[in-house]
Amino acid sequence: MNTIKIEEPKVCPFCGSPVVRMIEDGAHLYCSNPDCPERIIAKLNYFVTKECMNIEGLSEKTLRKIVPILGIKDWSDLYKLTYEDLQSAGLGPVVSANITKELTNSKTNAKAENVLMSLGILGIGKVNAKKLLENFKSIENIKNATLEDISEVVGDVAGKNVVDFMKNNTEEIQKVCKYFNTTYINPIEISGNKLYGMTILATGTLKNFSRDEIKESVIANGGTYASGLSKKLTFLIVGENAGASKIKKANEMGITKFTEEEYLNLINN
Ligand SMILES: [Zn+2]
Repeated sequence: MNTIKIEEPKVCPFCGSPVVRMIEDGAHLYCSNPDCPERIIAKLNYFVTKECMNIEGLSEKTLRKIVPILGIKDWSDLYKLTYEDLQSAGLGPVVSANITKELTNSKTNAKAENVLMSLGILGIGKVNAKKLLENFKSIENIKNATLEDISEVVGDVAGKNVVDFMKNNTEEIQKVCKYFNTTYINPIEISGNKLYGMTILATGTLKNFSRDEIKESVIANGGTYASGLSKKLTFLIVGENAGASKIKKANEMGITKFTEEEYLNLINN
């Protein structure tokens, strides 16, 4: 068998910075420049793929078009994008509206394991991301865990990758995690158990809580905040200007309705 020896590149073919080899992963060479345009595209493109955050409208082609124009560098920059930004980068109205919708949807519905694997940590695919979250309960907790504890879950090699990655990207991870609506990413301290075993959802405008605050309140009191109407709901908190179709649907499903005052009485007594 003939083998051809290929000369290893010493610099990144895209930006000319020196390449580095991951000791734990001998087969791969990486560009050492965090601002390398090709590295940024690769990082963002992995983040939005179907297996990760599944933001369909952001294809690699679209990313290559908008990233340099809009100066996008971090994952969190994607979530800041507005319809106007996308249009100003040359995307059409339909595409821009679609991407905006998908980004909003991603903020609301993202699963912590998808967020964790989307960061592109070597050795942390879906299985290991799930394992880590089962053990540490939130990305925030993983960030604070020791090498020893993490290695126990995913092995020494992946464990070291996780710890190094979290240390080197702390700020970026924090920035992107702020956009998500799940406590598995940003844990809420549970201070009571008045809502233990209850699944609760709120609709309409509440006087004392924003949408995030009511969710935090439910969880802090030991309950589960639902992602949508379902028969599993213990009750639905109905605020002002609640959508008529939602209320109709809740009635059809036989869901118990609470006013905001009733909810406050429940948690305060
Ligand atoms: Zn480079």
